[in-house]
Amino acid sequence: MPGYNHLFIPGPTNVPDSLRRAVDLPMEDMRAPDFPEFTLPLFEDLKKVFQTETGQVFLFPGSGTGGWEAAITNTLSPGDKVLASRFGQFSNLWVDLCQRHGLEVEAIDVPWGEGVPVTRYAEALAADTEHRIKAVLVCHNETATGVTSDVAAVRAALDSVGHPAMLYVDGVSSIASIDFRMDEWGVDVAVSGSQKGFMLPTGLAIVCVSQKALEARKSAKLNRCYFDFEDMIRTNASGYFPYTPATTLLRGLRASVDYLLGEGLDNVFARHHRMAEGVRQAVNAWGLKLCAATPHWYSDTVSAIYVPEGIDSAAVVRHAYYRYNLSLGAGLTKVAGKVFRIGHLGAINEVMVLSALAGTEMVLRDVGIPVEAGSGVAAAQEHFRATATGEQSIAAAAQ
Ligand SMILES: *Cc1c(COP(=O)(O)O)cnc(C)c1O
Repeated sequence: MPGYNHLFIPGPTNVPDSLRRAVDLPMEDMRAPDFPEFTLPLFEDLKKVFQTETGQVFLFPGSGTGGWEAAITNTLSPGDKVLASRFGQFSNLWVDLCQRHGLEVEAIDVPWGEGVPVTRYAEALAADTEHRIKAVLVCHNETATGVTSDVAAVRAALDSVGHPAMLYVDGVSSIASIDFRMDEWGVDVAVSGSQKGFMLPTGLAIVCVSQKALEARKSAKLNRCYFDFEDMIRTNASGYFPYTPATTLLRGLRASVDYLLGEGLDNVFARHHRMAEGVRQAVNAWGLKLCAATPHWYSDTVSAIYVPEGIDSAAVVRHAYYRYNLSLGAGLTKVAGKVFRIGHLGAINEVMVLSALAGTEMVLRDVGIPVEAGSGVAAAQEHFRATATGEQSIAAAAQ
């Protein structure tokens, strides 16, 4: 089919041309004497994306899931108690990973469409007077349902009872797209990956770790080898890695960080909010409902949208792909067949979002959902026109 595949899944995301060129490189000598001149400033600048001064960033070949494993195995011991919540495929999977590593997980089940239950976390922490809970897990942005949780409120819950547990955040689909403040929110381990907000090909787990969590590694007894912080700390100090790093992705990451800091993190967050709001206006104009239960939970990186009873959302996704070369996100596990997702994160702008909405609108009509032709597109257009001022354009940032 001529033209592009229109990629509107919530990761991997669209790789901007400047980043694609940045990874299109010959292999290089990762033990070259001048390699640290490249790596050491990269580690420093990545901290800005996590909004941390005291944290340390680790770059593992892998993906977000590897980052979860690194976070847990470096800081906890078998049988340690972890407080978590499940409200979608990704929050589910992190709990599963913890359990498979032999941790004792108190997992609070929450209806899909809501996020981290801060009040119930506060109660569990208050009840834990012996401080058996060592880790509190937050899935910042549940990509399966399009739900964003309040990390700062979880920090406040910990502080209100003086609980010493460490705070772990899955920021795979939020960091570099939605405001995330490592230091201000007292996050101990934050996990991301290269293929979502960082707009790169898949292949890196990007993990940021507080001094407190680094200290915890000294007594943490879970087995680890490939993802051991210790080996990274030893070699990263002089700008090298304990094994062959993914050099092309690291070069791409340099370009990605420049892109993000060039646009300005606040502008990046504002742009994502505008794009998301345009999608939400469209969903509203179509007369459809988001999976996110209330505006409190709305995600600025992905929208999961319910199809009416009697329609299979998998057919929506399939039809979009084959008929219009448009990739939408499918519903996962509990909401399979019930929702489809539009990913609106990374290198996207107004007209890209409008193209996704226009394609989606045709698909919805094709499968028999009575949305008015042009209604969602028009709603998003008017939102974008009304909110266009004062924002640095993505094109300017990419120069
Ligand atoms: C994509 C994603 C993951 C998993 O990351 P992989 O890169 O697929 O291993 C974890 N958590 C969230 C919230 C995600 O969106």
